[in-house]
Amino acid sequence: MSASRQLSVDEHVQGVLAGDRAILARTITLIESNAPAHFDKAQEVLRQLLPHTGNSIRVGITGVPGAGKSTLIEALGMHLVEQNHRVAVLAIDPTSSVTRGSILGDKTRMDRLSKHPHAYIRPSPTGGVLGGVARKTRETMLVCEAAGFDVLLVETVGTGQSEITVRQMTDFFLLVLITGAGDELQGIKKGVVEIADALAINKADGENKIRAQAARAEYNRALRYLNAASADWQTRAYTCSALTGEGVPELWSVIEAFRQQAQASGAFMERRRQQSRDWLRALIEEQLRSYFFNHPQVKEQLPQIEQAVLDGTIPVTAAARDLLNLLTN
Ligand code: GDP
Repeated sequence: MSASRQLSVDEHVQGVLAGDRAILARTITLIESNAPAHFDKAQEVLRQLLPHTGNSIRVGITGVPGAGKSTLIEALGMHLVEQNHRVAVLAIDPTSSVTRGSILGDKTRMDRLSKHPHAYIRPSPTGGVLGGVARKTRETMLVCEAAGFDVLLVETVGTGQSEITVRQMTDFFLLVLITGAGDELQGIKKGVVEIADALAINKADGENKIRAQAARAEYNRALRYLNAASADWQTRAYTCSALTGEGVPELWSVIEAFRQQAQASGAFMERRRQQSRDWLRALIEEQLRSYFFNHPQVKEQLPQIEQAVLDGTIPVTAAARDLLNLLTN
């Protein structure tokens, strides 16, 4: 098949369902495209794939740069593929277009995993605002599920808003930490601990092992006083070494235990339903805003009406109503 020829909707759908790598990659590229001409086609492909999605565990992974996320994803991913799981690694890095390049962009960071036939690594979509990047990653997750991947690992950088975004699209949220820095409770201040289902204190090897174990105890004490990130689930701290692999299978057991418990209680599907509902509302709000500010009459009258508000000649409420009325005139 020539790589330049456009695939039909049916070719995309059948190729993804058959697990064809090249078609999977092209389908994700279609979804990531900002060209208006690709939008309807991408949505039709997704619509047809939808009945084949959802059968996975979606795990978000965050932590400051250098915490060892990539190394841990490689170690966890290799552990999983050896157990016959199929693992897709995705990323959300809204800063990637302005900084040194996307996380996961450098595939050598996950050298073994990226070569494994049961793993698929896709760098963060680049460019645009976080909302747009997140939309693409959410849809890419669905495509990966339809292609048969049953574990989705979504990595993000340790910046507040992208962490919340990843939390909102995953079943389980893992915070990777390291000791040092003199303040073991650094993460708690940032509030990210409160959205985490587990804390992995990484680099628990060599001389650092004892310090990591002490940090684990300290975090576990503090965690008892925080609200749970997920219903009926106690977030705990664990130690691991992504480098030696120690503690990595145990980390996976925690995720499995969470899944079993949340599926049995119904919390698992309820969270996913809530996430879809919230995503729908967010998309509508985003599109309404863009429709409003791009409406020709709004564009024409906004400056004057804004000035009248600044001059104190129109009440703000009336100004807002007048502008909104332009949409229905
Ligand atoms: P990321 O920025 O969070 O993705 O971090 P990386 O996975 O790139 O790791 C940053 C550095 O820490 C690299 O030099 C890794 O080799 C090292 N590293 C990662 N995990 C471990 C670990 O468990 N133990 C030790 N000693 N080093 C590690």
